[in-house]
Amino acid sequence: MKLRFIWFYILLVLLLWQCRSGIKVSSTTATQTGKPPMNDSNTDFSKLNDEDWKARLTPDEYRVLRQKGTERPFSSEFETLWDSGTYVCKGCGSELFHSSTKFDAGCGWPSFYQGISKDRIREITDYSHGMIRTEVVCAKCGGHLGHVFNDGYGQPTGLRYCINGISLGFVKKQP
Ligand SMILES: [Zn+2]
Repeated sequence: MKLRFIWFYILLVLLLWQCRSGIKVSSTTATQTGKPPMNDSNTDFSKLNDEDWKARLTPDEYRVLRQKGTERPFSSEFETLWDSGTYVCKGCGSELFHSSTKFDAGCGWPSFYQGISKDRIREITDYSHGMIRTEVVCAKCGGHLGHVFNDGYGQPTGLRYCINGISLGFVKKQP
């Protein structure tokens, strides 16, 4: 009788432990997935602090968008995506680039010859790494996107917006 009670107790503990670790795993997954906050009109993105951004983004997204990191070349699925649609900011959902302006620059990062509109993307002179470059950031949330160069050869604007794919989300155009 006593032995059966002990077995019952062990099973109960195991069951509770499973439940707890189950909850823990799902919350970790939710944080790391970092769903792009599309159509998030209630948030004042200029007021978010580092902790807020860490909660909203995955560690890799945070490193690029908030710490001006650069993703590895050819690592983004968007580098070879040619579907019709709109590329949005991963930080705030702001529409940044149309797929019709995307071209294959062969540089390893998604490249566009122009943004959707001038007021969506802010350009800042960047003196880091011993170079003078023009950094591009999302005008709405200040997230780092990449750089713009004058070597968009053969493109209508002659520009190449060299963008980290991890800074973007993609909204596919409905047929
Ligand atoms: Zn943004």
